[in-house]
Amino acid sequence: MRNEVGVRIWQDMLNYFPFRYVDKSQILKISEIQSDQVAVQTQGKLISIEESGVGRAKRLKGILRDETGDLELIWFKGQTWLKKSLKTGMQYIVYGKPSIFKGRLNIAHPEMELEEEARVSVGSPLKPVYSSTEKMNAKGLSSNGIAKLTFTLIEEVKGHVPENIPDYLLSQYKLMPREEAYRHMHAPSSHEKLEAARRRFKFEELLYFQLQLVRQKLAGTKYEKGVVFKSVGDYFNGFYTGFLPFELTGAQKRVLKEIRSDVARGQHMNRLIQGDVGSGKTIVAVLAALLSIDNGFQVCLMAPTEILAQQHCNTIGEQLKKFNETIENRGEIQILRVALLTGSTSKSDRRKIHEGLLDGSIQFLIGTHALIEPIVQFRNLGLAIIDEQHRFGVAQRAKLWKKAELPPHVLVMTATPIPRTLAMTLYGDLDISVIDELPPGRKNIETKHYFDSARNKIFKFIEDQIALGRQIYIVYPLIEESEKMDYKDLMDGYESISRRFPLPTYKIGIVHGRMKPTDKNYEMAQFLGGVTQILVATTVIEVGVNVPNASVMVIESAERFGLSQLHQLRGRVGRGDAHSYCTLMTGNKLSSDSRLRMETMCRTQDGFEIAEVDLQLRGPGDIMGTQQSGLPDLKIADLARDQQILAAARNTALQIADEDPEFNLPQHAAIREHLESIKRRKSDWSTIS
Ligand code: ADP
Ligand code: MG
Repeated sequence: MRNEVGVRIWQDMLNYFPFRYVDKSQILKISEIQSDQVAVQTQGKLISIEESGVGRAKRLKGILRDETGDLELIWFKGQTWLKKSLKTGMQYIVYGKPSIFKGRLNIAHPEMELEEEARVSVGSPLKPVYSSTEKMNAKGLSSNGIAKLTFTLIEEVKGHVPENIPDYLLSQYKLMPREEAYRHMHAPSSHEKLEAARRRFKFEELLYFQLQLVRQKLAGTKYEKGVVFKSVGDYFNGFYTGFLPFELTGAQKRVLKEIRSDVARGQHMNRLIQGDVGSGKTIVAVLAALLSIDNGFQVCLMAPTEILAQQHCNTIGEQLKKFNETIENRGEIQILRVALLTGSTSKSDRRKIHEGLLDGSIQFLIGTHALIEPIVQFRNLGLAIIDEQHRFGVAQRAKLWKKAELPPHVLVMTATPIPRTLAMTLYGDLDISVIDELPPGRKNIETKHYFDSARNKIFKFIEDQIALGRQIYIVYPLIEESEKMDYKDLMDGYESISRRFPLPTYKIGIVHGRMKPTDKNYEMAQFLGGVTQILVATTVIEVGVNVPNASVMVIESAERFGLSQLHQLRGRVGRGDAHSYCTLMTGNKLSSDSRLRMETMCRTQDGFEIAEVDLQLRGPGDIMGTQQSGLPDLKIADLARDQQILAAARNTALQIADEDPEFNLPQHAAIREHLESIKRRKSDWSTIS
């Protein structure tokens, strides 16, 4: 037991990595110090130390001297203790940020180290800095204290640090061995060695993280049975051969194939389709639905907003209409019944839908959250499609499963591209398909950034576009924390636009979240039908809305939107034949991040490229949102910056899981041991807390 605790303590200490390093490799002469340097290190004799001033102006002043000159050292706090501990006449190594005070160069609150002691300490040019608390400080565990202790420990455990990455991987990826890497984390002999050590630990961390994920996934698929869609029947074939509104892109075909092989296997499908805005996910969903119906199973499609559910119902109804007429004429198979269920479905309609679902006469249900309510029961649900997954949590997905004996296959569609490596990490439980090709003939959306001062010019541009028969979106930010002000901005904006584009020549619509669903639908229908030329809106129109004649997207206060939101919004235009525009309006003062966001939007339309920049700017935690992120708690690796290492770790984990899933090969013994020790530590902690 004692040993167990002991081992745990030394491992924990070695894993307590410095959070930064101070470069001590350079020692400047006092005459070389300049006030604009961030931090400098110098060396000299402390020739005097004295207190001056009274009350709050009291300070301690020291003079450091080398052969090139004098440097003033100043302390405003801790004078009594410092005065006792600093020794005049001794050689010190001094580190700190230089500044100019009353025309004289000085360093305030420098780190002081006796030269003779500095030599016997860590002996590395890069001095580690550890985070330490006040309590730890009081116990002698200041950053320096930790450094000394850890260094002693490293000497102590020499030759006893177990390697947990197989040799063949160490050489394949040129990784530093573990023991050496620990030494260079805590006492790097050079920048290069430190980098190599960091790279090794990042790989180690990500490899074990991925190994655990891959294992979970293997365990999951082994035990989870799914309904089998044996045949491709009359619905799928009939529609596919005679009624597809367009030729599918190669990417759409590929994803469809992946889905078909999933659902025929007898295992539960859990697949994420990532496809940029406009890449054509809907038709893939429809074809998957027909496959399910062919095999006697019902389908549901869940959208995040009423507008979207409504729109899906319309387009899908439209696409199936001719097909249905043919079915009816031939009278061989049952006509397809599609129903819409949302929060605003009337009570009597609702009852009819519930009945139709139970007796199986409705094969395809489209709706919002309303369809996961317990009262909605199916005769035999075989496939659940979820559009725009970011708004649905894992728990909500799970609710769908309860609606059938065997869990229905799940197809999640998202238009928020996530870099592939990150997606693999975040959706460890999902297989991923990517539609990485847009339908042919998609045009570039001319994107420009303007300051608010250019508003008149923009209004003129809008006027010209309307004269050409185009329609315009004008979008305002709406953020929960500043909701009141945001609504005011929206209404003010609406008013001033109405004044500039007055009735009866112009008609302007407005949609926002405070409106009743029926009013929202009405406004959307007016815009879709071309009755209104301008639609003033909040981000309720962000996802999926499709009005092909709308060719201009004006985004107000664009600096307040994130990149993925801007990209989503822009995706609302460029859907018809007309040349399309996206105008980003911002205030004059922009942070460098905001400027980068605007530049990125103007430069590219590639959702994955934009996602990359977004990831660099915000980090993965923010992007995924906290409540459903499922992000691992990583100590050293960074999912945004270390994607190459992540990809290597991922591939390695998959390969190992494939060749040797139980880690029985001798070269994988270390991996098995380490995984077991991770598990042990986890269960230990759970009993403690
Ligand atoms: P998203 O992936 O954003 O949901 P949609 O499914 O709404 O995209 O498709 C966007 C538009 O592109 C729709 O008008 C759709 O009819 C059209 N579309 C989809 N696939 C193709 C294709 N292969 N060829 C031509 N047009 C297509
Ligand atoms: Mg869509």
